[in-house]
Amino acid sequence: MICPACEHNMTEKEIQQIKVDVCAGGCGGIWFDGHELKKIDEPHEAVGQDLLEVEYDPEVVVDESQRRDCPHCDAIVMMRHFSSIKREVEVDECPSCGGFFLDRGELNSLREQYSSEEDRSEAANKMFGDMFDDDLEDVHEAGRQRVEAGKRLSRMFRFLLPSYYIPGKQKWGVY
Ligand SMILES: [Zn+2]
Ligand SMILES: [Zn+2]
Repeated sequence: MICPACEHNMTEKEIQQIKVDVCAGGCGGIWFDGHELKKIDEPHEAVGQDLLEVEYDPEVVVDESQRRDCPHCDAIVMMRHFSSIKREVEVDECPSCGGFFLDRGELNSLREQYSSEEDRSEAANKMFGDMFDDDLEDVHEAGRQRVEAGKRLSRMFRFLLPSYYIPGKQKWGVY
């Protein structure tokens, strides 16, 4: 798979049974397949850190103002998506396959913004409250699709930002 941001060849990586494609040796971005995201239902501990350890080339500069093509689909331009928790984080979402691309810088800022357990559980509660309390029966088709996209997005954050924190348990120590 070709990286949508820097056109480097991406590497498949399996982290706690979830397959992601990382732009190792390129921009360090991450691709989440829509089907893989459906598998995320339990909090995953510290996976974001594994993704930050991906080797990347600091010389690679990505143009964040460019719309990007989905690396999975043919000729589908991804939508830029903003999450509204705490501070805006940008992801690219494919309207066709439901995959997400996250820049390395965005992953970094997510980790920094949610460095305490309080912050993470607050964000998780807010996110899941907003996204799963919906009354699906009244939602028409377009709305239903947004709800599904929201669920995938929240699963991605859940994967990246475990809502619990056990001091001393992380291999990189307390941060
Ligand atoms: Zn890349
Ligand atoms: Zn796609």
